[in-house]
Amino acid sequence: MSPALPTGRFSAPPTGRFAPSPTGPLHAGSAVAALASWLDARAQGGRWLVRIEDVDTPRCQPGAAEVILGQLAALGLLPDAPPLWQSSRGAAYQAALDRLLAAGLAYPCGCSRRDIDAAWAAQGRPHDRFAERVYPGTCRAGLNGKPARATRLMTVVDGAGVQIAWTDRRLGAQQQDVAQAVGDFILHRADGLWAYQLAVVVDDAAQGVTDVVRGADLADNTARQIHLQRQLGLPTPRHLHTPLVLAPDGHKLSKQNGAAPLDTRQPLATLQAAAAVLGLPALPATSVTDWLAAATRAWAAAWPLQPAVHGTVA
Ligand code: GLU
Repeated sequence: MSPALPTGRFSAPPTGRFAPSPTGPLHAGSAVAALASWLDARAQGGRWLVRIEDVDTPRCQPGAAEVILGQLAALGLLPDAPPLWQSSRGAAYQAALDRLLAAGLAYPCGCSRRDIDAAWAAQGRPHDRFAERVYPGTCRAGLNGKPARATRLMTVVDGAGVQIAWTDRRLGAQQQDVAQAVGDFILHRADGLWAYQLAVVVDDAAQGVTDVVRGADLADNTARQIHLQRQLGLPTPRHLHTPLVLAPDGHKLSKQNGAAPLDTRQPLATLQAAAAVLGLPALPATSVTDWLAAATRAWAAAWPLQPAVHGTVA
């Protein structure tokens, strides 16, 4: 049974955020998401916040967060509040996890990857190493004597697999059968680290984020995050996933494939290049401030919002 948790509603003003993982400096791709989220917040007359997503500590690079904040400042993208650092948010994540566990919506899991693969193989469906490792639900009914490793969220609720439908402002109608596509997913990892899905949902709510504007590579996480928001009684923001910048090999530009750090010595040229990816026209300007003002008007025209939609939840 799902507990009767409140339906989340926004009381916050329009609020956007940029949430970089400090695994290296910003590159041309991450600048697109930063600029889009800034423009969208400003076009709504709202706030823009920065969150440093430094939960996955082994992937974080010392000093990268400071470099990123410096790059944003050089582009004129200044947050309206001091950045929120996820490494300082453990108590909030623990409180959310405790609520889910107490409500029977999450459970401890004792399976290793090998256990998961063995469970699928026993059902005649061996793991394809290129596919998502969908959790077969082995520990849903109890640990069966195994020590707890991770904590997972139920994606089968009241006997039915969770289906999430949502509308992306750019990509249109989306839907995912979460139980089929990913299965009960991890909130707290076996290595003791908080999972991205839990941290992002708890922090978006804590920061009053009404609009998630981020790269299209993250669109696939949205259904999981909406399910988690519903289970925690938190509001679901609107979403807009921005086009990706591709590397010459056709793959998404990323720190992993050696994307060059963003050059902020010519901020107007850098901003214009990011705007072009967003489909905005070339904007003549003599200063970063003028350029950002013109780009905000162009964004508002390209991605208008129905005021009536604001404040409702998916
Ligand atoms: N920290 C994530 C990343 O850098 C982004 C999270 C988000 O915007 O939801 O890929």
